[in-house]
Amino acid sequence: MLPQPVMQKAQEELLDWNGQGVSVMEISHRSKEFIALTQQADADIRELMNIPSNYHVLFMHGGGRGQFAAVVNNLLGNNGKALYLVDGSWSSSAVEEAKKLAGDAQIDTLNIVDKTDGISRVVLPELSEIKQDYRYLHYCPNETVDGIEIFDELDSPWPIVADMSSNIMSREIEVSRYGLIYAGAQKNIGPSGLSIVIVRDDLLQYPQLTQASIMDYRLAVKHDSMFNTPPTFAWYLAAEVFKWLKAQGGVAEVAKINERKAETLYGFIDSCDFYENRVASANRSNMNVTFYLKDESLNEAFLAEAKAAGLVALKGHRSVGGMRASIYNAMPLAGVEALVSFMKAFADKHAA
Ligand SMILES: *Cc1c(COP(=O)(O)O)cnc(C)c1O
Repeated sequence: MLPQPVMQKAQEELLDWNGQGVSVMEISHRSKEFIALTQQADADIRELMNIPSNYHVLFMHGGGRGQFAAVVNNLLGNNGKALYLVDGSWSSSAVEEAKKLAGDAQIDTLNIVDKTDGISRVVLPELSEIKQDYRYLHYCPNETVDGIEIFDELDSPWPIVADMSSNIMSREIEVSRYGLIYAGAQKNIGPSGLSIVIVRDDLLQYPQLTQASIMDYRLAVKHDSMFNTPPTFAWYLAAEVFKWLKAQGGVAEVAKINERKAETLYGFIDSCDFYENRVASANRSNMNVTFYLKDESLNEAFLAEAKAAGLVALKGHRSVGGMRASIYNAMPLAGVEALVSFMKAFADKHAA
């Protein structure tokens, strides 16, 4: 979900943005007014994430998967190698795309999830002991589908590339520990179609593969993310979400609420015999809470009754089954509390 005040503001000014007499969708991306919007968005995301000045912030097309390709094309070159840590479904997809573009020989992978006893636990490797000259290390700190989050900072001898599509701005991080951070916008930032790329200046000097110009970071930097017409409406909404986040007190404040939301939901699941979560407590995602009904024959009834109670989008990804509550920044604590009371009532009603 997106923050309701942002949606309301967008509705109010849909036909007449900023006194222009037309929609933000209808004005030129090169107009002075739209440029001012992009500059404000840049300043706001830099403030929210405390981004150092030697990093570029790019607003690009193509969501998260677009960056699976762009990262390879921009950072690997013809003879570089990269290491991909695999902790779930999205990092596996990133590997697949990387191998497709660069070939198997340039991409090393390391599975970092131990599933002993059916509980997923992240075991981080001692990276400094790996004697390889990688251009970068890729990982996904929040595996959206699996409900696995890595809270520990990695100690990497190589620049870290992180897919933060589903946990960007959900808690404070130190940007200077990363070479590149990217995120499809549609989970925590705005509507789909946009991706945010935060890249340290020196990585732009890396040897590139031949690639489409619209994916080229150097061109994006040179043209202020306007090499071609950007997704202007998505950019506008993202800018409004940044303002909303600042009004909430910034990422540190939102992180506190996110903690409470996650504790509320996991606490209930653990306390109730009817449901279970299968992720080690240190790696339970604050954004995507996966859970299973112990009696899976009740799954359909659970989803139908939840929907009737106004609780939607709870079905787990088809690859893992079960249920998943995505509780991104815009989800208020009251939303989680409503889910918990529904789950409690459902368990009471259906417990054998
Ligand atoms: C959703 C998601 C993606 C894919 O995003 P698209 O915009 O659909 O390409 C990639 N990585 C993660 C971690 C995601 O959650």
